[in-house]
Amino acid sequence: MKTQSTLLATLILSVAFPAAAQTKPAADWRTPTEICDYRCTPRYDETMAYIRRVVAAAPTQVKIEPWGKTGEGRELVGVIVSKDGVFDPVAIHKASRPVVYIQNGIHAGEIEGKDASLALLRDMVVNKTRAALLDKAVVIIVPVYNIDGHERVSRYNRINQNGPEEMGWRTQSNNLNLNRDYMKADSVEARQFLAYFAKWLPDFFIDDHVTDGADYQYDVTYAIDFGPDVDPAINSWERDQLRPYIEKSVTDAGHVIGLYVGIGEADPMKGLKIPQDPPRFSTGYMVLQNRPSILVEMHMLKDYKTRVRGNYELLRAILEKVNSGADTLIEMNRAADAAMVADGKSYNPSRKVVLRTAPSDHSEPFHYLGYKSKRVLSEVSGGVWNQYTHEIENIDLPLYNDFQPVFSVTPPRAYIVPAQWTRVIDLLRAHGVQMQPTTASWEGEVGTYRCSPKWNNMLFEGRHPMAIGDFSDPSHYTPICRQVQEKLSFGPGSMVISLDQRTAKVIMGLLEPDAPDSCVQWGFFDAIFEQKEFGEPYVLEPLARKMLAEDPALRAEFEKKLAEDKAFAGDPDARLNFFYDRSPYHDLHIGLYPVGRLTSLEGIPFK
Ligand SMILES: [Zn+2]
Repeated sequence: MKTQSTLLATLILSVAFPAAAQTKPAADWRTPTEICDYRCTPRYDETMAYIRRVVAAAPTQVKIEPWGKTGEGRELVGVIVSKDGVFDPVAIHKASRPVVYIQNGIHAGEIEGKDASLALLRDMVVNKTRAALLDKAVVIIVPVYNIDGHERVSRYNRINQNGPEEMGWRTQSNNLNLNRDYMKADSVEARQFLAYFAKWLPDFFIDDHVTDGADYQYDVTYAIDFGPDVDPAINSWERDQLRPYIEKSVTDAGHVIGLYVGIGEADPMKGLKIPQDPPRFSTGYMVLQNRPSILVEMHMLKDYKTRVRGNYELLRAILEKVNSGADTLIEMNRAADAAMVADGKSYNPSRKVVLRTAPSDHSEPFHYLGYKSKRVLSEVSGGVWNQYTHEIENIDLPLYNDFQPVFSVTPPRAYIVPAQWTRVIDLLRAHGVQMQPTTASWEGEVGTYRCSPKWNNMLFEGRHPMAIGDFSDPSHYTPICRQVQEKLSFGPGSMVISLDQRTAKVIMGLLEPDAPDSCVQWGFFDAIFEQKEFGEPYVLEPLARKMLAEDPALRAEFEKKLAEDKAFAGDPDARLNFFYDRSPYHDLHIGLYPVGRLTSLEGIPFK
């Protein structure tokens, strides 16, 4: 009896004072955005404070790794998450564990990836509900890439976007868009990213964004490059393995997931386009690096909670697939690297590498989950605008999801870049490209290009590049260069860049002038296109008369041009220059690309 009454008293006590009698209250591990019920997103300091708390709770699984400073001096970090406390990239690659890089806030106003990543970090290592995501994978979370933009906070930074209440800004502190800076790497952030990328060489790259564009039912959208420029094995893994898995898994989690499509404002029935990003963009750059990647675009008009949760589910699904397919993923990345090295060891005139693509005319039917909209004539703009309803409209539209090569090259055995083009050499070095300096002057016959570029008048990313825009239209592209053989001279310290290295496609992307984000396109070589000597009219007048008298074919050409080209006929300077350009005084170096394409390394003096 006594025993029984003691037991009863104990039971009564533990019901009345459960916490006091047992353990202290559980720690509150809600992330900052969860605490404010998804109305807010934390500033960078708060974000890092939460991450430091996680590190303190799980020091053997999480490490904060600084990798640089922003323009305004804030610390760029990667948060390395590894189940067994191994944080060394060499050891991790050696153990065949896939490395996944999650990049948030490159456009800092588009920030749910950061908040989703904080929740995922907690769930992997603190409450361990997602611990299995670390079975094989090692995760690098960059909480915010564009930190200076992230701290430029306002309620008015994203006019199209539905929350959080305040958010960061699109560009970094020089007003550069980091998601156009992967190739030219003008920003300090991009330069340091390239070094950090080379250090880790991730097996899968995720770039988290928020859409601009149409309204539709999808809250989670994504883009993966499937063009003919993508390594074939990587292409089919992404298309046949990754894509069906994430679509099903994110749907099962209660979200509406679909491809990130552009829909024609003028006439939606004309079909859906998907982007194929050139390498100025993160995912386009990964194509050159032969690494699979995904562009995540959460839909701007969905509420912030839906977007954070949807982003979380997509990250979770990708990590599940990376773990279950770890061996395949690592094998195909290694094979792509090895193929680059092997193929680059000798010159093969029949080899082609695709450097530029455009959509073909081919489309496939696509079941599109849209909203009904009305096209209304506007008395404000004078144009037509789409008035969206939230009435569901599921329609079959043509999807233009097939890409064709529009520019391919036969890779040389090596390039040779003259020593004086220091900015180009620095850029190649920043991309992790291996090169050897020549030890003496060398002159010889090399393959190169003669180019007649057309600059864009519009400023774009602080430059006047040739191609600023629309990569969805194949007619947009016209080559500016033709291949020639020329005798060029190279001083000592010129860089020989052999193509038997894993970054061979990056090298071609920078050094082939007609590649969409080449050094020529971005203006690194602009000076070679300038005429520096001019004839005075009183010198050219007698020269022209002499040339006309001595050369009947030239006279015929001149007269034909006068008859056919009104602008020319009315421009005295152009008429005189016609003769200067055809005289021995004309500078043969104008438009001659100074980089050589070598088919053999024989006879080149280098270390
Ligand atoms: Zn974006």
